[in-house]
Amino acid sequence: MAWRSSGASNEALIANLAKNGLIESDRVKEAMLKVDRAHYAPSSAYEDSPQPIGHRATISAPHMHASACESLLPNLSPGSRVLDIGSGSGYLTAVLANLVGPSGTVIGIDHIQPLVDMATTNMRKSEEGRRMLESGQVKFIAGDGRKGWKEGAPYDAIHVGAAAAEHHQELTEQLKAPGRLFVPVAEGWVQHIYVVDKKEDGSVEKKKLYGVQYVPLTDAPT
Ligand code: SAH
Repeated sequence: MAWRSSGASNEALIANLAKNGLIESDRVKEAMLKVDRAHYAPSSAYEDSPQPIGHRATISAPHMHASACESLLPNLSPGSRVLDIGSGSGYLTAVLANLVGPSGTVIGIDHIQPLVDMATTNMRKSEEGRRMLESGQVKFIAGDGRKGWKEGAPYDAIHVGAAAAEHHQELTEQLKAPGRLFVPVAEGWVQHIYVVDKKEDGSVEKKKLYGVQYVPLTDAPT
């Protein structure tokens, strides 16, 4: 499923993701159409593959961004609060911001300050991105995402863009009830996407989805 959705333009890439069933909803399609991936990926921006962005990080493949948005979609409404952990290039943070609208808030957190700065610079390349930063609809901060970000909690949705070594309790704690967490978790040599739902009554249900390959959620480099 990985490479066959590449296109010659942002529109073509997204049309191919939709044609191949990787984008299912019009809301995700529209949110991705509004963000030019070339503002975030230094090369091959319209290929359906991850690309290096420096600091041993990558911008994830478009089909993974699409899958994360589709999974979190029921918990992304106008006005929702979202935490994007391992925000890296800032691409998904911007897409998520489109899904929660001007009354919503998306906080991108990354533990590498130059990547926090890069995400801000990338977003400032478009008028819409500049508006989102200036209004506070999007905020990028530096910190250890394994602890979530308590100051902004509780969240309707939390996305994790790097593979966790365990199920971090703090992330579930920072979810609203109802709220949803999308997180790759490493189990030995393999990683799987988990969708963790905190239900209205506060009970928690974990669903294991498909196998993936993400960079690890680690200690900050010294
Ligand atoms: N969603 C991003 C993915 C970037 S790759 C994108 O598509 O652009 C994963 C990111 O997780 C890297 O930027 C890395 O710096 C960050 N990361 C790794 N461990 C982290 C931690 N403990 N806290 C916060 N960010 C972390």
